[in-house]
Amino acid sequence: MVATALTPDPSSATTASRRLRVTEIFHSLQGESDSVGWPTVFVRLTGCPLRCVWCDTEYSFHGGEWRDIPSILDQVGGYATHHVCVTGGEPLAQKRCLPLLVALCDEGYEVSLETSGALDIGEVDPRVRRVVDFKPPGSGEVGRNLWTNVGHLGARDQVKFVLADRADYDWAVARIEEHALARRCPILFSPVHGQLEPRALAEWILADRLPVRFQMQLHKQLWGSEPGR
Ligand code: SF4
Repeated sequence: MVATALTPDPSSATTASRRLRVTEIFHSLQGESDSVGWPTVFVRLTGCPLRCVWCDTEYSFHGGEWRDIPSILDQVGGYATHHVCVTGGEPLAQKRCLPLLVALCDEGYEVSLETSGALDIGEVDPRVRRVVDFKPPGSGEVGRNLWTNVGHLGARDQVKFVLADRADYDWAVARIEEHALARRCPILFSPVHGQLEPRALAEWILADRLPVRFQMQLHKQLWGSEPGR
């Protein structure tokens, strides 16, 4: 596994402990999850310990800028938008993600967190809607799924499966059964952009009477793979 390599914060340890490495903060439409379509501010944190073969945010693996939480809140506030999504990379790879989420909730935002399912979600502020993106075999990272996360899921959270082929689909169906996921929270199925024909996935779901919600990434339909969208 490739480890995330971030350049150390050059400032003091005390200051560094209040900072996060941020790839970008931008304003767009939420492209997926139960908040799809809402104008949303995205805070994309830098770094990810996974390397999914179809990852579309590789530019977030390295670089970024050290920002303290008040400066992030200032920029988010400038967009005058109620919804905020903290994403990555893998946002929970930075321990200061947790106080950032608390601060955003304290400001009154509707906050969601997009996380890979490979890191523990148990310490995330309960006001946050957690979207847990468990990785199927086609991602190359199926061994990283942390299934103890299922025990933390509640009705406000969502589980997402991004599927590259029929083998991924069958694997996801088996995991839904194994972990009784439909009793915990909504389940989202999406095709890997450009790899799985969306219509095929829709027809499999209907044929199997699956209790899942089909989604295509709205932002990809509107803007393609343009960063900052
Ligand atoms: S977890 Fe997300 S950001 Fe990390 S490699 Fe996979 S798709 Fe990319």
